[in-house]
Amino acid sequence: MNEFEIIEQYFKQVHPQSQGDLVLGIGDDAAIVTVPEDSELLISMDTLVAGTHFPLETAPEDIAYKALAVNLSDMAAMGAFPRWVSLSLALPENDADWLKRFSSSFNQFSNEESLVLIGGDITRAPLSVTIQIHGIAPKGKSLRRDGAGIGDSIYVTGKLGAAAYAYQNIISSNSFPSPTEEELQRFLRPEPRIEIGIKLRSIATSCIDISDGLVSDLNHILKASEVGAEIQLSSIPYADSLQKLDKDKAIELALTGGDDYELCFTLPDGVSEELVNELHSIYPVHCIGKINKNNFKLDLMGDNDQIYTIQKTGYRHFN
Ligand code: ADP
Ligand code: MG
Repeated sequence: MNEFEIIEQYFKQVHPQSQGDLVLGIGDDAAIVTVPEDSELLISMDTLVAGTHFPLETAPEDIAYKALAVNLSDMAAMGAFPRWVSLSLALPENDADWLKRFSSSFNQFSNEESLVLIGGDITRAPLSVTIQIHGIAPKGKSLRRDGAGIGDSIYVTGKLGAAAYAYQNIISSNSFPSPTEEELQRFLRPEPRIEIGIKLRSIATSCIDISDGLVSDLNHILKASEVGAEIQLSSIPYADSLQKLDKDKAIELALTGGDDYELCFTLPDGVSEELVNELHSIYPVHCIGKINKNNFKLDLMGDNDQIYTIQKTGYRHFN
């Protein structure tokens, strides 16, 4: 099969070629979409490389899911409603079984999220998956990193550290007790927090998704907003699996492990309890600290109000 037949067989037939604001889908030199009036278009891209972002032997279904999920998570972090997606596939060989499994997972998950594949590219190269995602939000209402203000409360959704726990186990299987199936799923199949992201549009002063670890990602908010922060280690929602580890290791994984794809956001001082409860009813949220005027500095408060120091701050490709 050549690349045109691959596109035709695995990707094109499942997605609409025109519908509503999709004028022209897969098949021409470019796709055409119209953006509703009073909306802004949000565009983001993420690449997953075999051996770097997922182990080489990962099932194609899981690769497709995760590639979509990490991109959807960026939309969630901006409060965007995801609409369209493009897919660039680098494949080492033309493996029909791999393509069938990858595409059926990709098509199923994108359908569930009402996300339409509008184009892409296929090349022969070591396995990697690049996705560009396009979402919309009401003009001026997208969530950003640069709006956190002094006195704001810092929140996270869900629990932290389970994905890092599972990943550590995958790369060095004898160091930890084996992860349960549920813990593995937290790494392989993170759930993008789209609904709460959209709800946060009119409430949060800043937002980011936790991909590299809480410390690293919260630091991006501090830098963009030119503020500091203090978080209480006792308020962190640690993943259940971390109870199997000693305290320092649990803190390290929850704060620097990455791959959680939860949201970290700030709410203005004086936000009503009712509103927080509303968020909580969409997905559990936890207040972990406060923004202060300590420029760019993040203090982790441990026992007896002592500052706690961790060595690693998060995953980086280039140091
Ligand atoms: P061109 O040579 O004009 O760049 P391509 O051969 O790369 O065109 O692609 C032909 C059409 O198929 C384009 O509309 C492109 O967006 C689409 N396409 C290519 N690869 C993929 C893919 N992996 N998934 C979805 N659509 C794809
Ligand atoms: Mg092309």
